[in-house]
Amino acid sequence: MIRASACALAPARAMDGARDARERETRVAAATRGARSGAAIRARMAARTRASAGDDDDDGVDVPFEPSYVPRAPGVRDGAWAKVDADAVVASIRDADATARNAGKVIDGEPFSLLGLTSSELKQFAIDRGLPAFRGKQIADHLYAGGGASARSVDDFTTLSKKVREELKAQNVQVGRATLHHVAESTDGTTKLLLRLSDNRVVETVGIPAKEYGKSRLTCCVSSQVGCPMRCTFCATGKGGFARNLAPHEIVDQVLAIEAHFGERVSNVVFMGMGEPLLNVPNVLKAHKALNEEIGIGARHITISTVGVRGSIEKLAHAQLQSVLAVSLHAPNQALRETIIPSAKVYPMEDLLRDCEQYFIATGRRVTFEYTLLGGVNDQPEHAKELGRLLYARNLASHVNLIPYNPVDESDFKRPTRATITEFKDILESLNVPASVRVTKGLDAAAACGQLRNEFQKNAIEGDLKPATV
Ligand code: SAH
Repeated sequence: MIRASACALAPARAMDGARDARERETRVAAATRGARSGAAIRARMAARTRASAGDDDDDGVDVPFEPSYVPRAPGVRDGAWAKVDADAVVASIRDADATARNAGKVIDGEPFSLLGLTSSELKQFAIDRGLPAFRGKQIADHLYAGGGASARSVDDFTTLSKKVREELKAQNVQVGRATLHHVAESTDGTTKLLLRLSDNRVVETVGIPAKEYGKSRLTCCVSSQVGCPMRCTFCATGKGGFARNLAPHEIVDQVLAIEAHFGERVSNVVFMGMGEPLLNVPNVLKAHKALNEEIGIGARHITISTVGVRGSIEKLAHAQLQSVLAVSLHAPNQALRETIIPSAKVYPMEDLLRDCEQYFIATGRRVTFEYTLLGGVNDQPEHAKELGRLLYARNLASHVNLIPYNPVDESDFKRPTRATITEFKDILESLNVPASVRVTKGLDAAAACGQLRNEFQKNAIEGDLKPATV
Protein backbone atom coordinates (compact mmCIF):
# COMPACT_ATOMS: atom_id res chain seq x y z
CA MET A 1 0.00 0.00 0.00
CA ILE A 2 1.21 3.48 -0.74
CA ARG A 3 -0.01 6.96 -0.13
CA ALA A 4 -1.36 8.18 -3.41
CA SER A 5 -2.92 11.46 -4.30
CA ALA A 6 -6.72 11.25 -4.29
CA CYS A 7 -7.15 13.25 -7.46
CA ALA A 8 -10.78 13.65 -8.30
CA LEU A 9 -11.11 15.02 -11.79
CA ALA A 10 -12.57 18.33 -10.67
CA PRO A 11 -10.26 20.95 -12.26
CA ALA A 12 -8.84 22.57 -9.10
CA ARG A 13 -8.00 19.26 -7.49
CA ALA A 14 -6.72 17.91 -10.78
CA MET A 15 -4.20 20.75 -10.88
CA ASP A 16 -2.99 19.89 -7.36
CA GLY A 17 -2.96 16.28 -8.41
CA ALA A 18 -1.02 17.21 -11.51
CA ARG A 19 1.68 18.90 -9.46
CA ASP A 20 1.93 16.00 -7.03
CA ALA A 21 1.88 13.53 -9.86
CA ARG A 22 4.57 15.42 -11.77
CA GLU A 23 6.86 15.32 -8.77
CA ARG A 24 6.16 11.65 -8.28
CA GLU A 25 6.63 10.94 -12.03
CA THR A 26 10.09 12.51 -11.87
CA ARG A 27 11.03 10.36 -8.88
CA VAL A 28 9.55 7.28 -10.46
CA ALA A 29 11.32 8.02 -13.76
CA ALA A 30 14.64 8.24 -11.97
CA ALA A 31 13.96 5.01 -10.15
CA THR A 32 12.76 3.12 -13.20
CA ARG A 33 14.99 4.29 -16.06
CA GLY A 34 16.66 1.44 -17.90
CA ALA A 35 13.87 -1.08 -17.37
CA ARG A 36 14.36 -4.35 -19.21
CA SER A 37 13.57 -7.72 -17.68
CA GLY A 38 10.57 -8.90 -15.71
CA ALA A 39 12.82 -9.40 -12.67
CA ALA A 40 14.16 -5.88 -13.03
CA ILE A 41 10.62 -4.56 -13.28
CA ARG A 42 9.65 -6.44 -10.12
CA ALA A 43 12.70 -5.11 -8.27
CA ARG A 44 11.98 -1.57 -9.37
CA MET A 45 8.32 -1.95 -8.48
CA ALA A 46 9.26 -2.92 -4.95
CA ALA A 47 11.72 -0.01 -4.76
CA ARG A 48 9.14 2.36 -6.16
CA THR A 49 6.53 1.23 -3.70
CA ARG A 50 9.02 1.68 -0.87
CA ALA A 51 10.02 5.13 -2.17
CA SER A 52 6.42 6.18 -2.56
CA ALA A 53 5.47 4.90 0.87
CA GLY A 54 7.09 7.98 2.36
CA ASP A 55 4.74 10.33 0.49
CA ASP A 56 2.93 12.54 2.85
CA ASP A 57 0.16 14.13 0.81
CA ASP A 58 -2.50 15.69 3.00
CA ASP A 59 -5.15 14.79 0.49
CA GLY A 60 -3.86 11.25 0.08
CA VAL A 61 -5.74 8.01 0.55
CA ASP A 62 -4.41 4.51 0.80
CA VAL A 63 -4.78 2.65 -2.48
CA PRO A 64 -3.13 -0.50 -3.74
CA PHE A 65 -0.45 0.23 -6.33
CA GLU A 66 -1.51 -1.42 -9.59
CA PRO A 67 0.20 0.03 -12.64
CA SER A 68 -0.76 -1.02 -16.14
CA TYR A 69 2.10 -2.97 -17.64
CA VAL A 70 0.74 -6.24 -18.97
CA PRO A 71 3.32 -8.97 -19.45
CA ARG A 72 3.09 -10.96 -22.64
CA ALA A 73 1.35 -14.30 -22.56
CA PRO A 74 3.68 -17.32 -22.44
CA GLY A 75 5.20 -18.03 -25.85
CA VAL A 76 4.68 -14.53 -27.27
CA ARG A 77 8.00 -13.03 -28.32
CA ASP A 78 9.54 -10.63 -30.82
CA GLY A 79 9.92 -11.95 -34.35
CA ALA A 80 7.67 -14.24 -36.34
CA TRP A 81 3.89 -14.18 -36.15
CA ALA A 82 3.09 -17.48 -34.50
CA LYS A 83 -0.07 -19.42 -33.75
CA VAL A 84 -0.07 -18.03 -30.21
CA ASP A 85 -0.30 -14.50 -31.68
CA ALA A 86 -3.11 -15.44 -34.05
CA ASP A 87 -4.94 -17.05 -31.12
CA ALA A 88 -4.52 -13.87 -29.05
CA VAL A 89 -6.07 -11.84 -31.86
CA VAL A 90 -9.05 -14.18 -32.11
CA ALA A 91 -9.45 -14.10 -28.32
CA SER A 92 -9.25 -10.32 -28.37
CA ILE A 93 -12.05 -10.06 -30.96
CA ARG A 94 -14.20 -12.49 -28.92
CA ASP A 95 -13.49 -10.49 -25.76
CA ALA A 96 -14.62 -7.33 -27.61
CA ASP A 97 -17.89 -8.94 -28.62
CA ALA A 98 -18.55 -10.11 -25.06
CA THR A 99 -17.69 -6.69 -23.62
CA ALA A 100 -20.00 -4.95 -26.08
CA ARG A 101 -22.84 -7.43 -25.44
CA ASN A 102 -22.68 -6.67 -21.74
CA ALA A 103 -22.36 -2.89 -22.09
CA GLY A 104 -25.57 -1.12 -21.10
CA LYS A 105 -27.19 -4.31 -19.75
CA VAL A 106 -28.05 -5.17 -16.21
CA ILE A 107 -26.32 -8.40 -15.31
CA ASP A 108 -27.01 -9.84 -11.89
CA GLY A 109 -24.76 -8.42 -9.25
CA GLU A 110 -22.49 -6.62 -11.72
CA PRO A 111 -22.17 -2.84 -11.62
CA PHE A 112 -23.90 -1.27 -14.57
CA SER A 113 -22.30 1.82 -16.17
CA LEU A 114 -24.42 4.54 -17.71
CA LEU A 115 -21.64 6.39 -19.46
CA GLY A 116 -21.49 5.61 -23.16
CA LEU A 117 -25.26 5.24 -23.51
CA THR A 118 -27.02 7.71 -25.80
CA SER A 119 -29.97 9.90 -24.75
CA SER A 120 -32.44 7.56 -26.41
CA GLU A 121 -30.91 4.54 -24.65
CA LEU A 122 -31.05 6.43 -21.37
CA LYS A 123 -34.70 7.29 -21.94
CA GLN A 124 -35.38 3.60 -22.37
CA PHE A 125 -33.32 2.95 -19.24
CA ALA A 126 -35.61 5.37 -17.32
CA ILE A 127 -38.79 3.82 -18.75
CA ASP A 128 -37.56 0.33 -17.79
CA ARG A 129 -37.38 1.56 -14.19
CA GLY A 130 -40.86 3.06 -14.18
CA LEU A 131 -39.55 6.61 -14.56
CA PRO A 132 -40.73 9.11 -17.15
CA ALA A 133 -38.55 9.18 -20.29
CA PHE A 134 -37.42 12.76 -19.64
CA ARG A 135 -35.54 11.50 -16.56
CA GLY A 136 -33.31 9.61 -18.97
CA LYS A 137 -32.59 12.83 -20.84
CA GLN A 138 -31.77 14.51 -17.54
CA ILE A 139 -29.29 11.73 -16.79
CA ALA A 140 -27.71 12.27 -20.22
CA ASP A 141 -27.37 15.99 -19.47
CA HIS A 142 -25.55 15.18 -16.23
CA LEU A 143 -23.29 12.58 -17.84
CA TYR A 144 -22.21 14.68 -20.79
CA ALA A 145 -22.20 18.20 -19.29
CA GLY A 146 -18.47 18.35 -20.10
CA GLY A 147 -15.60 20.64 -19.17
CA GLY A 148 -15.40 19.11 -15.69
CA ALA A 149 -19.12 19.42 -14.92
CA SER A 150 -19.93 15.86 -16.00
CA ALA A 151 -21.34 13.65 -13.25
CA ARG A 152 -18.87 11.41 -11.48
CA SER A 153 -21.42 9.47 -9.46
CA VAL A 154 -25.16 8.88 -9.29
CA ASP A 155 -25.24 11.40 -6.42
CA ASP A 156 -24.39 14.07 -9.00
CA PHE A 157 -27.74 13.52 -10.76
CA THR A 158 -29.14 16.44 -8.81
CA THR A 159 -32.26 16.85 -10.93
CA LEU A 160 -33.39 13.40 -9.78
CA SER A 161 -34.89 12.97 -6.34
CA LYS A 162 -32.73 11.49 -3.62
CA LYS A 163 -35.11 8.52 -3.49
CA VAL A 164 -34.57 7.73 -7.19
CA ARG A 165 -30.82 8.12 -6.82
CA GLU A 166 -30.81 5.72 -3.87
CA GLU A 167 -32.85 3.23 -5.87
CA LEU A 168 -30.42 3.40 -8.76
CA LYS A 169 -27.48 2.87 -6.45
CA ALA A 170 -29.25 -0.07 -4.81
CA GLN A 171 -29.51 -1.60 -8.30
CA ASN A 172 -25.73 -1.24 -8.67
CA VAL A 173 -26.09 1.48 -11.30
CA GLN A 174 -23.01 3.67 -11.59
CA VAL A 175 -21.72 6.42 -13.84
CA GLY A 176 -18.62 4.46 -14.86
CA ARG A 177 -15.88 7.05 -14.42
CA ALA A 178 -12.30 6.02 -13.73
CA THR A 179 -10.07 7.68 -11.14
CA LEU A 180 -7.03 9.73 -12.00
CA HIS A 181 -3.86 7.78 -11.34
CA HIS A 182 -1.11 10.06 -12.68
CA VAL A 183 -0.79 13.28 -14.64
CA ALA A 184 2.22 14.11 -16.80
CA GLU A 185 2.22 17.55 -18.33
CA SER A 186 4.62 18.88 -20.95
CA THR A 187 5.78 22.45 -21.28
CA ASP A 188 3.81 22.79 -24.54
CA GLY A 189 0.60 21.87 -22.71
CA THR A 190 0.31 18.30 -23.99
CA THR A 191 -0.94 16.32 -21.03
CA LYS A 192 -1.13 12.65 -20.43
CA LEU A 193 -3.54 11.24 -17.90
CA LEU A 194 -3.31 7.74 -16.55
CA LEU A 195 -6.74 6.56 -15.58
CA ARG A 196 -7.30 3.75 -13.14
CA LEU A 197 -10.15 1.49 -14.20
CA SER A 198 -12.52 -0.42 -11.93
CA ASP A 199 -10.31 -3.54 -12.14
CA ASN A 200 -7.22 -1.47 -11.27
CA ARG A 201 -5.82 -1.64 -14.77
CA VAL A 202 -4.47 1.70 -15.92
CA VAL A 203 -4.89 3.22 -19.38
CA GLU A 204 -3.52 6.40 -20.77
CA THR A 205 -5.17 9.22 -22.59
CA VAL A 206 -3.51 12.32 -23.98
CA GLY A 207 -4.85 15.85 -24.39
CA ILE A 208 -3.17 17.95 -27.08
CA PRO A 209 -4.14 21.62 -27.16
CA ALA A 210 -3.38 23.51 -30.38
CA LYS A 211 -4.20 26.71 -32.17
CA GLU A 212 -4.98 26.55 -35.87
CA TYR A 213 -5.80 29.66 -37.87
CA GLY A 214 -6.57 31.45 -34.60
CA LYS A 215 -9.01 28.73 -33.48
CA SER A 216 -8.36 26.56 -30.43
CA ARG A 217 -8.44 22.83 -30.77
CA LEU A 218 -8.23 20.23 -28.07
CA THR A 219 -7.46 16.77 -29.40
CA CYS A 220 -7.92 13.74 -27.19
CA CYS A 221 -5.92 10.63 -28.07
CA VAL A 222 -7.82 7.68 -26.65
CA SER A 223 -6.81 4.11 -25.86
CA SER A 224 -9.09 1.32 -27.05
CA GLN A 225 -7.52 -1.64 -25.23
CA VAL A 226 -5.48 -2.38 -22.13
CA GLY A 227 -2.29 -3.51 -23.86
CA CYS A 228 -2.27 -4.78 -27.45
CA PRO A 229 -1.63 -8.17 -29.05
CA MET A 230 -0.30 -6.79 -32.38
CA ARG A 231 3.42 -6.49 -31.47
CA CYS A 232 4.49 -3.78 -33.96
CA THR A 233 8.24 -3.77 -33.46
CA PHE A 234 8.72 -0.06 -32.68
CA CYS A 235 5.64 0.45 -30.50
CA ALA A 236 5.95 0.54 -26.72
CA THR A 237 2.49 -0.93 -26.14
CA GLY A 238 3.42 -3.85 -28.40
CA LYS A 239 6.35 -4.64 -26.09
CA GLY A 240 3.84 -5.81 -23.52
CA GLY A 241 0.89 -8.15 -23.74
CA PHE A 242 -2.83 -7.75 -24.08
CA ALA A 243 -5.16 -7.72 -21.08
CA ARG A 244 -8.62 -6.79 -22.32
CA ASN A 245 -10.73 -4.50 -24.46
CA LEU A 246 -12.13 -1.26 -23.16
CA ALA A 247 -15.90 -0.97 -22.79
CA PRO A 248 -17.68 2.07 -24.30
CA HIS A 249 -17.86 3.88 -20.94
CA GLU A 250 -14.10 3.47 -20.47
CA ILE A 251 -13.41 5.07 -23.87
CA VAL A 252 -15.87 7.94 -23.45
CA ASP A 253 -14.55 8.57 -19.95
CA GLN A 254 -11.10 9.38 -21.35
CA VAL A 255 -12.54 12.29 -23.29
CA LEU A 256 -14.44 13.56 -20.23
CA ALA A 257 -11.26 13.29 -18.14
CA ILE A 258 -9.35 15.42 -20.66
CA GLU A 259 -12.22 17.93 -20.71
CA ALA A 260 -12.14 18.08 -16.92
CA HIS A 261 -8.39 18.55 -16.85
CA PHE A 262 -8.39 21.35 -19.42
CA GLY A 263 -11.73 22.85 -18.35
CA GLU A 264 -12.91 22.91 -21.95
CA ARG A 265 -14.54 20.71 -24.53
CA VAL A 266 -12.58 18.30 -26.65
CA SER A 267 -12.87 19.14 -30.37
CA ASN A 268 -11.12 16.13 -31.96
CA VAL A 269 -10.68 12.50 -30.99
CA VAL A 270 -8.04 10.15 -32.39
CA PHE A 271 -8.04 6.44 -31.57
CA MET A 272 -4.25 6.40 -31.43
CA GLY A 273 -3.56 5.51 -27.83
CA MET A 274 -2.90 2.06 -26.45
CA GLY A 275 -4.40 -0.84 -28.37
CA GLU A 276 -5.73 -1.74 -31.78
CA PRO A 277 -9.21 -0.20 -32.20
CA LEU A 278 -10.19 -2.59 -35.00
CA LEU A 279 -9.85 -5.55 -32.65
CA ASN A 280 -12.47 -3.81 -30.51
CA VAL A 281 -14.90 -2.66 -33.19
CA PRO A 282 -18.25 -3.02 -31.36
CA ASN A 283 -17.12 -1.01 -28.33
CA VAL A 284 -15.30 1.56 -30.45
CA LEU A 285 -18.49 2.04 -32.49
CA LYS A 286 -20.64 2.47 -29.37
CA ALA A 287 -18.16 4.97 -27.95
CA HIS A 288 -18.04 6.76 -31.31
CA LYS A 289 -21.83 7.15 -31.24
CA ALA A 290 -21.81 8.66 -27.75
CA LEU A 291 -18.88 10.96 -28.56
CA ASN A 292 -20.64 12.15 -31.68
CA GLU A 293 -24.24 12.37 -30.53
CA GLU A 294 -23.86 13.24 -26.87
CA ILE A 295 -20.54 15.07 -26.53
CA GLY A 296 -21.00 16.69 -29.92
CA ILE A 297 -17.68 15.78 -31.52
CA GLY A 298 -18.21 15.92 -35.28
CA ALA A 299 -17.74 12.53 -36.95
CA ARG A 300 -15.23 14.16 -39.30
CA HIS A 301 -13.21 15.16 -36.25
CA ILE A 302 -12.84 11.56 -35.14
CA THR A 303 -9.99 9.42 -36.52
CA ILE A 304 -9.75 5.66 -36.13
CA SER A 305 -6.22 4.37 -36.62
CA THR A 306 -5.44 0.75 -37.44
CA VAL A 307 -2.47 -1.38 -38.39
CA GLY A 308 -4.93 -3.66 -40.19
CA VAL A 309 -7.05 -6.55 -38.96
CA ARG A 310 -8.51 -8.74 -41.66
CA GLY A 311 -12.27 -8.35 -41.99
CA SER A 312 -12.52 -5.27 -39.80
CA ILE A 313 -12.29 -2.40 -42.32
CA GLU A 314 -15.49 -3.77 -43.90
CA LYS A 315 -17.17 -3.57 -40.50
CA LEU A 316 -16.25 0.12 -40.28
CA ALA A 317 -17.37 0.76 -43.85
CA HIS A 318 -20.66 -0.92 -43.03
CA ALA A 319 -21.17 1.46 -40.08
CA GLN A 320 -20.96 4.35 -42.60
CA LEU A 321 -19.17 6.64 -40.16
CA GLN A 322 -18.12 9.95 -41.64
CA SER A 323 -14.88 9.60 -39.71
CA VAL A 324 -11.30 9.37 -40.86
CA LEU A 325 -9.79 5.93 -41.33
CA ALA A 326 -6.03 6.09 -40.75
CA VAL A 327 -4.03 3.03 -41.75
CA SER A 328 -0.57 2.45 -40.29
CA LEU A 329 1.39 1.39 -43.36
CA HIS A 330 5.02 2.07 -42.36
CA ALA A 331 6.51 0.44 -45.47
CA PRO A 332 6.13 0.71 -49.26
CA ASN A 333 6.19 -3.06 -49.88
CA GLN A 334 5.14 -6.30 -48.24
CA ALA A 335 8.65 -7.66 -47.64
CA LEU A 336 9.74 -4.65 -45.60
CA ARG A 337 6.37 -4.25 -43.88
CA GLU A 338 6.52 -7.81 -42.55
CA THR A 339 9.81 -7.07 -40.82
CA ILE A 340 8.31 -4.05 -39.04
CA ILE A 341 4.80 -5.36 -38.42
CA PRO A 342 4.74 -9.12 -37.71
CA SER A 343 0.94 -9.34 -38.13
CA ALA A 344 1.33 -8.16 -41.75
CA LYS A 345 2.28 -11.73 -42.64
CA VAL A 346 -1.30 -12.87 -42.22
CA TYR A 347 -2.90 -9.78 -43.77
CA PRO A 348 -0.71 -8.89 -46.73
CA MET A 349 -0.47 -5.32 -47.91
CA GLU A 350 -2.21 -6.08 -51.19
CA ASP A 351 -5.32 -7.25 -49.29
CA LEU A 352 -5.12 -4.32 -46.87
CA LEU A 353 -4.94 -1.77 -49.71
CA ARG A 354 -7.81 -3.47 -51.52
CA ASP A 355 -9.92 -3.19 -48.36
CA CYS A 356 -8.95 0.50 -48.10
CA GLU A 357 -10.14 1.04 -51.68
CA GLN A 358 -13.43 -0.67 -50.87
CA TYR A 359 -13.74 1.60 -47.81
CA PHE A 360 -13.22 4.68 -49.97
CA ILE A 361 -15.79 3.45 -52.50
CA ALA A 362 -18.33 2.61 -49.79
CA THR A 363 -17.96 5.77 -47.71
CA GLY A 364 -16.50 8.41 -50.04
CA ARG A 365 -14.00 9.19 -47.30
CA ARG A 366 -10.35 9.30 -48.27
CA VAL A 367 -8.00 7.04 -46.33
CA THR A 368 -5.04 8.51 -44.48
CA PHE A 369 -1.84 6.49 -44.23
CA GLU A 370 0.44 6.77 -41.26
CA TYR A 371 4.08 6.11 -41.90
CA THR A 372 6.45 6.00 -38.95
CA LEU A 373 9.89 6.94 -40.26
CA LEU A 374 12.49 4.59 -38.80
CA GLY A 375 16.03 5.86 -39.42
CA GLY A 376 17.83 3.74 -42.05
CA VAL A 377 14.98 1.20 -42.22
CA ASN A 378 12.11 2.70 -44.23
CA ASP A 379 13.09 6.37 -44.61
CA GLN A 380 15.30 6.31 -47.72
CA PRO A 381 14.51 8.14 -51.00
CA GLU A 382 13.83 4.81 -52.73
CA HIS A 383 11.21 4.00 -50.07
CA ALA A 384 9.54 7.37 -50.64
CA LYS A 385 9.50 6.82 -54.40
CA GLU A 386 8.05 3.33 -54.06
CA LEU A 387 5.41 4.55 -51.60
CA GLY A 388 4.47 7.51 -53.80
CA ARG A 389 4.07 5.32 -56.88
CA LEU A 390 2.12 2.70 -54.91
CA LEU A 391 -0.41 5.14 -53.46
CA TYR A 392 -0.78 7.28 -56.56
CA ALA A 393 -1.75 4.21 -58.54
CA ARG A 394 -4.54 3.26 -56.10
CA ASN A 395 -8.03 4.64 -56.02
CA LEU A 396 -7.76 6.10 -52.54
CA ALA A 397 -7.32 9.90 -52.68
CA SER A 398 -4.88 9.26 -49.90
CA HIS A 399 -2.80 11.48 -47.69
CA VAL A 400 0.34 10.36 -45.89
CA ASN A 401 1.01 11.37 -42.32
CA LEU A 402 4.73 10.97 -41.63
CA ILE A 403 5.57 10.28 -37.98
CA PRO A 404 9.24 10.55 -37.04
CA TYR A 405 10.03 7.57 -34.83
CA ASN A 406 9.83 8.34 -31.15
CA PRO A 407 12.41 6.24 -29.30
CA VAL A 408 11.06 3.70 -26.85
CA ASP A 409 12.82 1.31 -24.50
CA GLU A 410 13.69 -2.16 -25.76
CA SER A 411 13.82 -0.91 -29.35
CA ASP A 412 16.94 -0.29 -31.43
CA PHE A 413 15.32 1.90 -34.08
CA LYS A 414 16.61 5.42 -34.64
CA ARG A 415 14.87 8.66 -35.30
CA PRO A 416 15.56 9.95 -38.84
CA THR A 417 17.30 13.27 -39.37
CA ARG A 418 15.31 16.37 -40.18
CA ALA A 419 16.81 16.46 -43.70
CA THR A 420 15.73 12.85 -44.34
CA ILE A 421 12.19 13.60 -43.20
CA THR A 422 11.93 16.67 -45.45
CA GLU A 423 13.33 14.81 -48.45
CA PHE A 424 10.86 11.94 -47.91
CA LYS A 425 7.94 14.35 -47.83
CA ASP A 426 9.17 16.26 -50.90
CA ILE A 427 9.49 13.06 -52.92
CA LEU A 428 5.93 12.00 -52.04
CA GLU A 429 4.58 15.39 -53.03
CA SER A 430 6.55 15.38 -56.27
CA LEU A 431 4.68 12.14 -57.06
CA ASN A 432 1.34 13.87 -56.35
CA VAL A 433 0.75 12.20 -52.99
CA PRO A 434 -0.04 14.83 -50.34
CA ALA A 435 1.97 14.36 -47.15
CA SER A 436 2.42 16.06 -43.81
CA VAL A 437 4.89 15.55 -41.00
CA ARG A 438 3.37 15.11 -37.58
CA VAL A 439 5.00 17.60 -35.27
CA THR A 440 6.37 15.86 -32.24
CA LYS A 441 4.82 17.51 -29.26
CA GLY A 442 4.54 16.48 -25.80
CA LEU A 443 5.90 15.01 -22.78
CA ASP A 444 9.54 15.93 -22.55
CA ALA A 445 11.92 14.14 -20.28
CA ALA A 446 11.65 16.72 -17.53
CA ALA A 447 7.90 16.48 -17.31
CA ALA A 448 7.36 12.76 -17.52
CA CYS A 449 8.97 9.36 -17.47
CA GLY A 450 12.00 9.33 -19.77
CA GLN A 451 10.38 7.95 -22.87
CA LEU A 452 6.96 9.56 -22.71
CA ARG A 453 7.58 12.17 -25.34
CA ASN A 454 5.43 11.48 -28.30
CA GLU A 455 2.36 13.44 -29.28
CA PHE A 456 0.45 10.18 -29.05
CA GLN A 457 1.96 8.19 -26.27
CA LYS A 458 2.18 4.44 -26.45
CA ASN A 459 4.17 3.57 -23.37
CA ALA A 460 2.55 1.32 -20.85
CA ILE A 461 3.39 1.99 -17.25
CA GLU A 462 5.57 -0.73 -15.93
CA GLY A 463 4.69 -2.87 -13.04
CA ASP A 464 1.48 -4.86 -13.26
CA LEU A 465 2.79 -8.37 -13.06
CA LYS A 466 -0.48 -10.16 -13.59
CA PRO A 467 -0.24 -12.22 -16.76
CA ALA A 468 -2.56 -11.39 -19.63
CA THR A 469 -5.73 -13.38 -19.15
CA VAL A 470 -7.25 -13.63 -22.61
N1 SAH B 1 -3.05 0.24 -33.30
C1 SAH B 1 -3.32 1.46 -34.01
C2 SAH B 1 -3.14 2.66 -33.12
C3 SAH B 1 -1.70 2.79 -32.76
S1 SAH B 1 -1.03 4.30 -32.33
C4 SAH B 1 -2.42 1.57 -35.22
O1 SAH B 1 -1.48 0.79 -35.33
O2 SAH B 1 -2.67 2.40 -36.07
C5 SAH B 1 -1.08 5.41 -33.66
C6 SAH B 1 0.17 5.51 -34.54
O3 SAH B 1 1.37 5.75 -33.79
C7 SAH B 1 0.39 4.25 -35.34
O4 SAH B 1 0.64 4.60 -36.67
C8 SAH B 1 1.61 3.67 -34.69
O5 SAH B 1 2.30 2.83 -35.56
C9 SAH B 1 2.40 4.92 -34.31
N2 SAH B 1 3.45 4.67 -33.32
C10 SAH B 1 3.46 3.77 -32.32
N3 SAH B 1 4.62 3.83 -31.63
C11 SAH B 1 5.35 4.80 -32.20
C12 SAH B 1 6.66 5.33 -31.95
N4 SAH B 1 7.41 4.88 -30.96
N5 SAH B 1 7.11 6.33 -32.75
C13 SAH B 1 6.34 6.80 -33.76
N6 SAH B 1 5.12 6.34 -34.05
C14 SAH B 1 4.62 5.34 -33.28
